Amino acid sequence: MSVQVVSAATAAKVPEVELKDLSPSEAELQLGLNTAAVGAMGPPAGGGDPEAPAPAAERPPAPGPGSGPAAALSPAAGKVPQASAMKRSDPHHHHQRHRDGGEALVSHDGTVTEAPRTVKKQIQFADQKQEFNKRPTKIGRRSLSRSISQSSTDSYSSAASYTDSSDDETSPRDKQQKNSKGSSDFCVKNIKQAEFGRREIEIAEQEMPALMALRKRAQGEKPLAGAKIVGCTHITAQTAVLMETLGALGAQCRWAACNIYSTLNEVAAALAESGFPVFAWKGESEDDFWWCIDRCVNVEGWQPNMILDDGGDLTHWIYKKYPNMFKKIKGIVEESVTGVHRLYQLSKAGKLCVPAMNVNDSVTKQKFDNLYCCRESILDGLKRTTDMMFGGKQVVVCGYGEVGKGCCAALKAMGSIVYVTEIDPICALQACMDGFRLVKLNEVIRQVDIVITCTGNKNVVTREHLDRMKNSCIVCNMGHSNTEIDVASLRTPELTWERVRSQVDHVIWPDGKRIVLLAEGRLLNLSCSTVPTFVLSITATTQALALIELYNAPEGRYKQDVYLLPKKMDEYVASLHLPTFDAHLTELTDEQAKYLGLNKNGPFKPNYYRY
Ligand code: NAD
Repeated sequence: MSVQVVSAATAAKVPEVELKDLSPSEAELQLGLNTAAVGAMGPPAGGGDPEAPAPAAERPPAPGPGSGPAAALSPAAGKVPQASAMKRSDPHHHHQRHRDGGEALVSHDGTVTEAPRTVKKQIQFADQKQEFNKRPTKIGRRSLSRSISQSSTDSYSSAASYTDSSDDETSPRDKQQKNSKGSSDFCVKNIKQAEFGRREIEIAEQEMPALMALRKRAQGEKPLAGAKIVGCTHITAQTAVLMETLGALGAQCRWAACNIYSTLNEVAAALAESGFPVFAWKGESEDDFWWCIDRCVNVEGWQPNMILDDGGDLTHWIYKKYPNMFKKIKGIVEESVTGVHRLYQLSKAGKLCVPAMNVNDSVTKQKFDNLYCCRESILDGLKRTTDMMFGGKQVVVCGYGEVGKGCCAALKAMGSIVYVTEIDPICALQACMDGFRLVKLNEVIRQVDIVITCTGNKNVVTREHLDRMKNSCIVCNMGHSNTEIDVASLRTPELTWERVRSQVDHVIWPDGKRIVLLAEGRLLNLSCSTVPTFVLSITATTQALALIELYNAPEGRYKQDVYLLPKKMDEYVASLHLPTFDAHLTELTDEQAKYLGLNKNGPFKPNYYRY
């Protein structure tokens, strides 16, 4: 039985669909079974009750103190929007942003002109409303078909890449490669890069304690024995740790990338070298993208029985090409907003033929990924692209949800003067009580040094705002899609675009005023910085547990519908991460448990609790 979702936040995201969750008693029952799965990995170290969440004091295997820097998502694909812009920009000369020599400037229509040796940076605020020709151009737009989810074409970046694709232009599809065991069941850029990838994976392992703990517990029994998982996610060091964990738990995996830019080639090579059939490389074409997915699914003598998807493209492909496969598939685990939305649509249309887990809306994903990931990465993204100093700078953050809160906290800590805009009085009040000035964008737009959007909305920063910004104002977006800043309105003849670095454009007004637009209004942190491995670890652990749960669930527990992970498992994911902090969790006494009406082992909160 399922109940209507109780999370207002979740319901707000997908308003038209009924979210399924388990009632507390079912959740309990579930964790009992989960014991057959998770618990089968053996009791937590310290000999605790195998059904109970891991004791907080338990330490994961050697999480190196001061562990290495977060292994990164793959390098910026240099997704330069305008072919012409590439001619004059040299992403390798990052520190020549302000060249004093003459430089070619390229306007929106690709016209190349010689820039004056010193661009006159006269600060003039365009107070009077100007008429602009706002015709959007195709320049800078995605050319890929809509069938690929938007996230699959967003470019991701990383600090870590040993391979430069320019050294070898041969398509991986045309190469004959074998790993050291003689297997050629993979397609990666260069198998010889495996050793570098292995190092990246080892760094990531240091920051993914819960997965490493799961592996240790799985030494005896293997809760995923017999599972044949086909996966389509970003192929990064963090994913590699997840895949190798699934392997350690008994699963066979085949994997493709969910994003044509995000694959870390070395990591893909390391996985292929250790026997994982991986089909992915950085810079795939759309045709490559589907070919790779097909190679994962369409294999002689192997049929998947579980799907792990991020964006819904893999699920879509199986529905379209191999619908019969669903007879053997026990469940789908989906991470992204987009993919989850597709699943709910299928469910609503009565076309979902297997149970699915919505990982995106788990507390352990939403409360951690959105808030902490952004708190940790906003400064990194701004610093890498602009080398700016934050102290004393005036910043306006649009939206004070999870992402906005993370951005504001980081900037405040660095001494920035932070303003917030909000439409929702509750979030607005939170901003006020957290010490931020709540303003309308118009009130501060002329004075701020940085504008950051985090609303998930569209046209939050309009052309009018952009016209009024001061010289050198930095404009960027941390929301999911590139709709928050009206970038298209900047592609007008009177404005000149100057690509100064990879992911950094100066847009220059006729009077010499320029604004600094980052990542063309796409997600700043995923485009221009790394995101913390530890946060990804929480999501990856949730994915692993969702797979274990769906794979081991007895017939009938899950219907052909979309479910949220039971709260007790969310709590378990959190508890597995506590040892990293040497955190000591207080246990309820019998008397206290009775007083609060709780089971001593959780769940500790009702489903509607908001954290
Ligand atoms: P949220 O719903 O908690 O917060 C968004 C806030 O923006 C809300 O409080 C809403 O009232 C406010 N808002 C909406 N329109 C506004 C407007 N015109 N002006 C001012 N405020 C407005 O969502 P969230 O979890 O903070 O996520 C925000 C966006 O960031 C989403 O698109 C999400 O997908 C994305 N996201 C990004 C990352 C990342 O790593 N960059 C991580 C998670 C989520």
